[in-house]
Amino acid sequence: MEKQKEILKLYHDNLDQQIEEVFKADLNIPIDKFQTQKQFTVIRNLKVLHLACLHNNTKLVELTLTYCRNSNLINQTQMFEFINLQNKDGFTPLHMASFKGNLEIIKLLLQLGANSNIKNTTGLSVLHMSVQGDHVKTSVINIDFQLFWINQNIPIDILDHNHQTPLICASFLGSQQMVNFLIPWGAKLNAQTQDKGHTALHVATQQGHSRIVRKLLIKGIDRKIKDKTGRTALDLAVESRFESIQTMIENNMGLPERCGLRQPDSKVEKNYISMIIYLSLYCSSFLMTISFTLPKLESLQAWYITSFSITLLLTWVLVKRNPGFVPRSNKTLMDLLDAYSVDQICPDCSDVKPPRSRHCEICQKCVYKYDHHCPWLSNCVGEKNQYIFISFLFTLTLSISLQIAVQCSTLNLEDDQTDVDSDHLLQWITFYYTMIFSCIFILPVMLLFTVQIYNLIKGQTTYERYIEKQGINRIQSRKASAEQQLKLIKSAASTETNESEFKFTLKTQKKPLLKETELIV
Ligand SMILES: [Zn+2]
Ligand SMILES: [Zn+2]
Repeated sequence: MEKQKEILKLYHDNLDQQIEEVFKADLNIPIDKFQTQKQFTVIRNLKVLHLACLHNNTKLVELTLTYCRNSNLINQTQMFEFINLQNKDGFTPLHMASFKGNLEIIKLLLQLGANSNIKNTTGLSVLHMSVQGDHVKTSVINIDFQLFWINQNIPIDILDHNHQTPLICASFLGSQQMVNFLIPWGAKLNAQTQDKGHTALHVATQQGHSRIVRKLLIKGIDRKIKDKTGRTALDLAVESRFESIQTMIENNMGLPERCGLRQPDSKVEKNYISMIIYLSLYCSSFLMTISFTLPKLESLQAWYITSFSITLLLTWVLVKRNPGFVPRSNKTLMDLLDAYSVDQICPDCSDVKPPRSRHCEICQKCVYKYDHHCPWLSNCVGEKNQYIFISFLFTLTLSISLQIAVQCSTLNLEDDQTDVDSDHLLQWITFYYTMIFSCIFILPVMLLFTVQIYNLIKGQTTYERYIEKQGINRIQSRKASAEQQLKLIKSAASTETNESEFKFTLKTQKKPLLKETELIV
């Protein structure tokens, strides 16, 4: 009994060297029988292998398994039981290793017969545990895991007893990287839990994970789904006073969204509607001008027609030309994860995301030196078409300015005329039509041209300057926001309803699980 306590204490303290010495001295210690009691941990029935996996200690796991095989105290069947033993919550050593994100230990356990299909008492699979892992420190390994488990034929939408998918689990716990990767892998967006009928959007909203909320909305989650109490995610955001999340779910379009700098908080398919509107207005005003106005103004005719033709040609080039899409490397994601950090990989393209590139959710590709997605051209502006875009803005500004000049000159001519000719009415219609079009377009186009010239001087893209500004604003508002959040948490904890939510958090969140190995004094 003393020996058991001594060895369990060594396991608890993660002292693999001392354990190795104990094993070398005696090959007749029945460690497969040793399990923790309450004096060691807050939960019972953790075998030494659970403890080694929880410590994320590959050497200790290897030592333990090697000892079991060499000691001759357990046969093959007992070894299999030892590896797959579930504690009182139903967790196996494989669950623990998945939670910690250690691929080496997982492979070792699987080689020796660990069963990856075992679920714990609440139905959590190894994939759920992997999603719950600490993604800041072990994000690469965790993502490696996801692929690993999916390659082991574990469905990406595997359910626990509450019908909670890994995506809902990740959204609840704020596992941003997992959400980013699970969606492109085909995770079901609109799945609902059995008890409350919550979607991933409901749980992310409730927990205040605004980035995850935005990602889910951009990927097209149904924001109108109601839970079993009839509340949508928007209702939950309003109740919790999460104003930024409320704005996202309401999908309010601001200037950055309208300019293509920031994607709206919804799924946007590539379409040519804006481009058709722009071309229709631009071409019709040109045709009307050359038909009814220009014949009287031969001096401006050549300039106007030339600038229009060049603008139209540049429009065609910008629509058709590759803006600088990052070419595919044809490497597997596993290879990429070995070579790059997870931040350097685009989850949607499953490929490397070079510096200064960004994934366009509308074009569905990463773009070098991403500037913005232009809805009028239905294409991105990036490294390979930036200069063409600036030239286009220049000729567009010139042609619209000439159009205004032409119309104003006609006005003077009309004043001089005493007779009313047959084209008089058409000239006036042309005048108003083209002037309205020109006045609407000229200022935004000039502003965009100025911004692009400023970008050239600064050596930055519009998106980079936007992000930089956002970063400064975020730092300024961080303190105020933190104070507000603290007040909300305090008030939420004091209400009965939210207390039950807090208990749910305790059951599934990662931090309490880590504390399970703490020694009770
Ligand atoms: Zn991408
Ligand atoms: Zn784009």
